[in-house]
Amino acid sequence: MTDLVVRGGTVVTPEGVNRADIAIEGDVISAIAPELPGAAEEVDARGLFIFPGVIDVHVHFNEPGHTDWEGAATGSRALAAGGGTLFFDMPLNSIPCTVNAREFDRKRVALEAASITDFALWGGLVPGSVQEMAELAARGVVGFKAFLCHSGLDEFPRVDDLTLLEGLREAARLGMPVAVHAENHELIAALSQRMAGEGRRSVRDFLESRPVIAELEAIQRATLLAGEVGAKLHIIHLSSGRGVSLAAEARARGVDVSIETCPHYLFFTDEDVERLGAIAKCAPPVRDRQEQNHLWAELLRGTVDVVASDHSPSSPDRKAGDFWRAWGGIAGIQSTLAVLLDRGYHQRRLPLERIAALVAAEPARRFRIPDRGRLVPGASADLALVDLSAPFTLKSDDLLQRHALSPYIGASFRGVAKRTIRRGETIFAGGKATARSGGKLVRPLPM
Ligand SMILES: [Zn+2]
Repeated sequence: MTDLVVRGGTVVTPEGVNRADIAIEGDVISAIAPELPGAAEEVDARGLFIFPGVIDVHVHFNEPGHTDWEGAATGSRALAAGGGTLFFDMPLNSIPCTVNAREFDRKRVALEAASITDFALWGGLVPGSVQEMAELAARGVVGFKAFLCHSGLDEFPRVDDLTLLEGLREAARLGMPVAVHAENHELIAALSQRMAGEGRRSVRDFLESRPVIAELEAIQRATLLAGEVGAKLHIIHLSSGRGVSLAAEARARGVDVSIETCPHYLFFTDEDVERLGAIAKCAPPVRDRQEQNHLWAELLRGTVDVVASDHSPSSPDRKAGDFWRAWGGIAGIQSTLAVLLDRGYHQRRLPLERIAALVAAEPARRFRIPDRGRLVPGASADLALVDLSAPFTLKSDDLLQRHALSPYIGASFRGVAKRTIRRGETIFAGGKATARSGGKLVRPLPM
């Protein structure tokens, strides 16, 4: 007997958009076809679009150690409210950072106790950690994250070029991707120091201290080094259209590089940052309209592989006061799908199929999690049921994250997740999280 049938919806996959019922047995999809027979439980999905559950490959839930900023309990609920069923937690902003097997185990235990969605873990690549990478890979990390500039946290130092080269070589041996935060440290540090000396402390000064060329130089270097040793490279949170173009040039030369951008680069501009203040501060910073248009053009052309939130909240006090000292990180995990549906599908004719690829199918493929991100029989029953037409304005009460702080508050969208199903269980419906726990670690397929 089938446990659950999701009936009458329109199923969205990278391959197409079709009316069909979805039958679920236990954790997995057992059939997708029109007019499936009845089941023990039925969900009425008439009028709704069914996407694969969002896989957010870039979040900072800060657990253990900084759950006063966020935490897997609240962060996973916010993810579920945005149609998400699986997140990849970054190795920093938790204490300690995930740079060895012991810290992997510690984080795994904390997240299994707290998360309502499934999760995977990034390992860290920092000076002195190359010899830890093999054991982290054996534990099941999805890849290794490195900073080319200061990370904002002294406990997670940036890689020097030799650490990066040797880390890429070790990752290539292990068959794992390395994710890089691509900004040139020397340019940013020198510009920031000069501005400090001149007493320049405005929002505009901050934006000018992290110019697009700093991103381009770091992309150039990272793709060159990755190509030299045959490593898989994942460039996270590309903020500029020019950055995407440059990474795509490396790919055309044969470098194995995947390209991630974030909803905030697609939604906000520099003028919004000046208006909103520290709540919209991040690094690389949000760019001007021209750069954003270029980014959209690259995304519409199919150059971008993955859209991830880079959800990186802090406690409210860290977002108050002087902009330069304020925490750099945008809390937007709940809005990824809404941004792509409203600004992408409705406003720019971004096909729904592409959205399913950007937030689910490609993340699963790139990070070798074959039973996720797809709506086919045998795949994990992870679904996001979306109302594509109903307009809504995001209110602080709608946010399920730890602190109701987000630059998206007050923004209006068409395209909202109504129900999220993780491995056959409804974890979000009616504006509320409906599970208390149940998240489990997901590991990539071994090479
Ligand atoms: Zn991040």
